[in-house]
Amino acid sequence: MDKKQSTDTDTPTNENNPTFVSAIWKLTIAPIAIIIISLTVMVLSQISRNELTLVRILPIILGAIILTTAIIMLTRSLIKRLRGINALLPLLGESQFSEVRKALAPSINKSIKRNTASEVDQIERSLLDLSHKMEHQDENIDFHNKEIERMSLFDSLTGLVNRHLFLYETQNDLLDVQDNKRENIVAVIFLDLDKFKRINDSLGHQVGDLLLKKMGKRLRKATQKIGMVGRPGGDEFSILLRNIRSVRQLNTLCEKLQKLISQPIMLADTSIVVSCSIGIAASVSNSTKATDLVRHAEIAMYKAKDAGGGTYRLFTPSMASEAQDSLLLESDIRRAFTEKEFTLYLQPKVDTDNKIQSFESLVRWDHPKKGLLAPGLFIAAMESMGFISQLDDWILETSCRQLKILMEHYPGLSIAVNISSTRFSEESFVNFLQSCIEKYGIEPEHLELEITETMLMENMATATTILNKIKQMGIKIAIDDFGTGYSSLSYLKDLSVDTIKIDQAFIRDIPENEKDMQICSVIIYLAKQLKYKVVAEGVETKEQMDFLVASDCDLMQGYLFSKPIPAHKVLLMLETERLMNNSVPTKHSSFEDFQPAEPTEKSSYSTSD
Ligand code: C2E
Ligand code: CA
Ligand code: CA
Repeated sequence: MDKKQSTDTDTPTNENNPTFVSAIWKLTIAPIAIIIISLTVMVLSQISRNELTLVRILPIILGAIILTTAIIMLTRSLIKRLRGINALLPLLGESQFSEVRKALAPSINKSIKRNTASEVDQIERSLLDLSHKMEHQDENIDFHNKEIERMSLFDSLTGLVNRHLFLYETQNDLLDVQDNKRENIVAVIFLDLDKFKRINDSLGHQVGDLLLKKMGKRLRKATQKIGMVGRPGGDEFSILLRNIRSVRQLNTLCEKLQKLISQPIMLADTSIVVSCSIGIAASVSNSTKATDLVRHAEIAMYKAKDAGGGTYRLFTPSMASEAQDSLLLESDIRRAFTEKEFTLYLQPKVDTDNKIQSFESLVRWDHPKKGLLAPGLFIAAMESMGFISQLDDWILETSCRQLKILMEHYPGLSIAVNISSTRFSEESFVNFLQSCIEKYGIEPEHLELEITETMLMENMATATTILNKIKQMGIKIAIDDFGTGYSSLSYLKDLSVDTIKIDQAFIRDIPENEKDMQICSVIIYLAKQLKYKVVAEGVETKEQMDFLVASDCDLMQGYLFSKPIPAHKVLLMLETERLMNNSVPTKHSSFEDFQPAEPTEKSSYSTSD
């Protein structure tokens, strides 16, 4: 019955849209109606005056027909051009700039030749201008992205890959083995120069740096064909070995490396001989993670150091259990859950006016014997022992409960919760999230989840599906520790992400480190272009804050404003802020009352929140 009317065949954009009504057609109807009415009036007046003759009426009708036809033709051409412009807009969005320009060229050339510029001509020229500007901006973003990648993935002293890229590459290799793409063993060597501090102290840092550079070069040259060398920091080097077939091969290799390192090296006119301690770890199971492998190699390296240095050790599981100490006992962790030893701390994030806008949830373990433990001491163990999801759920639910309390008094505040990659990729996670929101009746847009980019990159497809589901629920997503993983904003562009958190590694050495400042301002600039909110973490000094405020960073988090405080003290903190009339005086003294005890000491705060 209701057949779609098909008009212009070459302007398909809006034809399928049943509500589309051309404004120009509407405008055309008015003049045509006026012509018809005038014509009718003329004819009627002639009839009334009995003067109606064909000779008189014919020119009027002809004139009216010509005028109407002209109006219709003009309108059609206008509609065609406007629809053409309309069809080009999505192409701009898809960055198909040359297509847009190709399509605009004939019409713009014509108008230039005519030396006229109607409104439509002007729209076309603006569109052309916009395509150039957007292309330039895209190139700019691409360039800066590559800069961030380069600066954040390579060690600036030696040019070797840094810890993050090393882990990333190792993880890729492990995945290849797991997917049966390769049969080799993946092994990691952790190498630490012996008594490097003495060289640094006696010959100066410049000579120390030179030594590291030369050693890096030697190692890279020697292992070129079998692996990749990285510098995780200090006087340590790591080597990813990709073509190892047997453990025996590893022993031979370590002996060779030791010989290589101990060859005399010329530094500041002095010939120096250094030795090194080496730890090796090889992937044993199909589920070995890069972080575990590197940690194991490091543990083995310390064993070599303990043995007096100048030697190497192959990692064995007993080394790990020795290193883990009693803290990592499974029974200890189980008791922590049943006895409610975990407790929630919150750290504020403030805006450029020093006003608290949100909090990050951070877990602490109030251990009966060891005191208040920071997550760095137990998260990795919980992860490897399979408790991390349980912990994440506890934190998430406790945070939602806390958010509910906060929202009653301060409805604008939000809470951000860290979610481990393990929990994030579990099927039950989204349902659990939903149940927490419903149970505490919180507004989802005030809850944010902090996840790391490495997690997203590990499994882009699954991550995207989960992210979209979370996004549909109205919950916000933040990328944590940005800059330490793959650091590609263009990657993130297609994901439902709201916030970028610049890792504290880039904030720590501001204002001394120019490079870090460059990275920060570029990240902030790009993130803003892509409409992300930017948070800087680990802000400790006024200089850092001033730099971030000047760089237009949205929120800041760090000891300068407040350390993480026990959740039950947060309302008091907010009340103080309110009493102080939303302004924080110099040195942020208002929050000092809330500084908690150092996490490693026994806490005096109650463990329940
Ligand atoms: P993160 O997500 O990067 O959290 C920020 C860390 O930086 C926190 O350490 C915080 O106390 C610390 N910090 C904040 N401001 C400053 C500052 O100005 N200077 C310095 N030096 N440090 C600052 P924390 O609480 O020890 O947490 C460490 C990491 O443990 C977190 O890093 C996060 O990755 C993980 N974590 C903490 N709580 C949870 C949790 O509930 N679940 C999961 N999965 N991970 C958690
Ligand atoms: Ca975090
Ligand atoms: Ca972080």
